[in-house]
Amino acid sequence: MDRRDPRLDPRWPLGDGTPVDFGKDWRPRFIVTVDTEEEFDWDGPFTRDRHGLAHVSAMPRFQSFCEERSVNPIYLIDYPVATDGQASEMLRGWCRAGTADVGVQLHPWVNPPFEETVSVHNSYACNLPPDLERQKFGLLYEAIARHIGVESRIYRAGRYGAGPASPNILREFGLDCDTSVRSLFDYSRQGGPNYAATPLKPYWLQQNALAELPVTTVLSGRLGPRGAGLFRASETRPNMRAALSRLGLVERIALTPEGISQTHAMRAVDDAVSQALPLLVFSFHSPSLAPGFTPYVRSEADVEALYLWWDHLFAHCAARGIAPITLTELRGALHDKPLAPGARPPLTAVPVRACSSVG
Ligand SMILES: [Zn+2]
Repeated sequence: MDRRDPRLDPRWPLGDGTPVDFGKDWRPRFIVTVDTEEEFDWDGPFTRDRHGLAHVSAMPRFQSFCEERSVNPIYLIDYPVATDGQASEMLRGWCRAGTADVGVQLHPWVNPPFEETVSVHNSYACNLPPDLERQKFGLLYEAIARHIGVESRIYRAGRYGAGPASPNILREFGLDCDTSVRSLFDYSRQGGPNYAATPLKPYWLQQNALAELPVTTVLSGRLGPRGAGLFRASETRPNMRAALSRLGLVERIALTPEGISQTHAMRAVDDAVSQALPLLVFSFHSPSLAPGFTPYVRSEADVEALYLWWDHLFAHCAARGIAPITLTELRGALHDKPLAPGARPPLTAVPVRACSSVG
């Protein structure tokens, strides 16, 4: 596993855990995570109330599409979705049928209690006072339990804004999986976390108790992971980053249909296999299931292209021997294993404080 780069964000201490040991017989598997959330203006300021849920009626098509391919989507839902009658009834049905799972996704700006000012900075839950992060999480967790009848076991911070206080909050509510880390992405210039050097493989945030399942992104190209330093050096130099990609040296590819072509994503799957990633975590946003709500899906043709993307990617995974895994199966695999060699004690001694130096 990568040694932590001391130049990187000291506020996110969680990239230093022990890799999850899935055992020698493990074959790579994949999960599909859906950031299931309200529609909002992706270019506008954050607001408490200017959002909608019109795309919810487009979700059953995606659910059926996945069921036909034996994939159980993991819907990471936020407060507006959890408390919406239509959405929660649908999700409850799929969970009861055992064909989907529901996890927690915290969008602080639309999640009570409303104590903070609405801003980019406060859109990252890690920038809130830890007690407010905890209260917001708690109300969301309880809303999901009440409306959907599910005790969620997996979490993603909205905008990947997890921080030092998050692991203990998750454990307090009995969660054992986090998927807030988007490795190879640095959000620190907007006041968010810097995941530029966090591992790509699942690791323990708290040993054998709380696993991090990073959203999968790989470094592709001739250098691949060996180009990590060059890639990080290009963070504030878009021309250099474009050149690295154009020259085929190193390029970041996220496993998402949003802005990533199927050709690129298929190449990323191959790279993930050659980099021995044990788990591929696909992700996208539910509003992309209908036209006009995200920058990635503007038309009906884009919606069809998105389904075609998934069809190709599922087929490509099958061809590479990468099968889907349900959350229940995955949690079983996580907790079935003995301590990894050289296991560290739990990372519980993490100081609890807001993760941003911006303010
Ligand atoms: Zn979100």
